[in-house]
Amino acid sequence: MSSRSWAEPYKIKMVELLKMTTPKQRKKAIEEAGFNTFLLKSEDVYIDLLTDSGTSAMSDRQWAGMMLGDEAYAGSRNFYNLERVVKKCYGYKHLIPTHQGRGAENILSQVMIKKGDIIPGNMYFTTTRLHQELAGGTFYDVIIDEAHDSTSLHPFKGDIDIAKLDKLVKKFGAKKIPYVCVATTVNMAGGQPISLKNLKELRAYTNKLGIKIILDMTRIAENAYFIQQREKGYANKNIASIVRQICDLTDGATFSAKKDALVNIGGFLTLNDDKKFEEASNLVVVYEGLHTYGGLAGRDMEAMAIGIEESLNDDHINARVGQVIYLGNKLIASGVPIVQPIGGHGIFIDAKLFLPHVKQINFPAQALAAEIFEDSGVRTMERGIVSAGRNAKTGDHYFPKLELVRLTIPRRVYTQAHMDVISESIDSVYKRRNEIKGMEMIYEPTYLRFFQARFKRL
Ligand SMILES: *Cc1c(COP(=O)(O)O)cnc(C)c1O
Repeated sequence: MSSRSWAEPYKIKMVELLKMTTPKQRKKAIEEAGFNTFLLKSEDVYIDLLTDSGTSAMSDRQWAGMMLGDEAYAGSRNFYNLERVVKKCYGYKHLIPTHQGRGAENILSQVMIKKGDIIPGNMYFTTTRLHQELAGGTFYDVIIDEAHDSTSLHPFKGDIDIAKLDKLVKKFGAKKIPYVCVATTVNMAGGQPISLKNLKELRAYTNKLGIKIILDMTRIAENAYFIQQREKGYANKNIASIVRQICDLTDGATFSAKKDALVNIGGFLTLNDDKKFEEASNLVVVYEGLHTYGGLAGRDMEAMAIGIEESLNDDHINARVGQVIYLGNKLIASGVPIVQPIGGHGIFIDAKLFLPHVKQINFPAQALAAEIFEDSGVRTMERGIVSAGRNAKTGDHYFPKLELVRLTIPRRVYTQAHMDVISESIDSVYKRRNEIKGMEMIYEPTYLRFFQARFKRL
């Protein structure tokens, strides 16, 4: 690592003004929100780290692209631009645009999965698993054990444990496994990458058995960055070429363009198989729209095409992940317990270690997220017992191993000074951690309770 600082490879042309709040205003806001950061009004938030999905800043070139929208119902010029960029950057044969990632997951699951099928993957993602289940499949986690340990420093915690996969094949038979679902920069593991070495081994293994590999390529550029930085033999390869190598080892992909691709809405499905593509183009008409727009306006496809190329620029990805690492290193220096290695899209605070005196049943991550907001107006979110929900059969809470507060960083939106404010705020909350109390849930919705649950302080 050189000792010179990096900086953003862009300058700011337009700004969005933020409301600066007083401690009294923030206290009132979080109380009114039932201590749930999802129920805060966005205008009361100073720095919003709720998600990196659809929250990135578009470039002037992308905004110019929005003006070139060809809003024809069929065969829009922007579709062909997007198709050309996807083929060039990712190499897949066929493209179907969708309104966002889950639209692609729905169509993929319906054309690939039969009732009783098994879908192995490197940790689940909420919408991905749900669509697999709705299509009659069952998800099995085959990620390496290190992914479930917040203190393990394994450089590729997104890797697949081929021995776990082989066990599934022996138990159910390869015929029951239409594909392995491989995520890049595994979200639920804290933004952890998969290595090319592991992907090559997986390709060799699945080729023998006729099992396909479908990528969830939502954060592929960030994954490529970690390969370039950490994997032997890739230090001199650029991001675009590493991304292409990842794609070339797989048979198709689903993509939420709301992350890597720097747009506020959009996604797609890609497939190399002609017959499956034909089936998918048939289905997209039912759920999304004609196969040349898939629920998107022409201008959205244009902004996505431009965003994809920008997302694969080495200077961009250096600054993007560099900003996350900058914040993570500041927190580590203050002694704040976070998931390591630092991930690609955000920082995950270990709330069990931060608040060891608060029992998991008193929602430590929820309490900590509320406390951080009250301190500085920084909005984070809970990824622990509240998000995990209840066991449908027994009605008991799930008690997940990881009880985390997630700080997801939008791309190209905040400055280094914002990162300093975040880190100083968390540091100050950490210094008075012994005074922080747990919570009691006073309203619990039936589905995905973390969005709307309400709490009071004990
Ligand atoms: C966001 C996301 C999705 C779903 O995409 P949407 O655009 O939100 O529908 C799927 N997989 C991963 C890993 C994601 O982060």
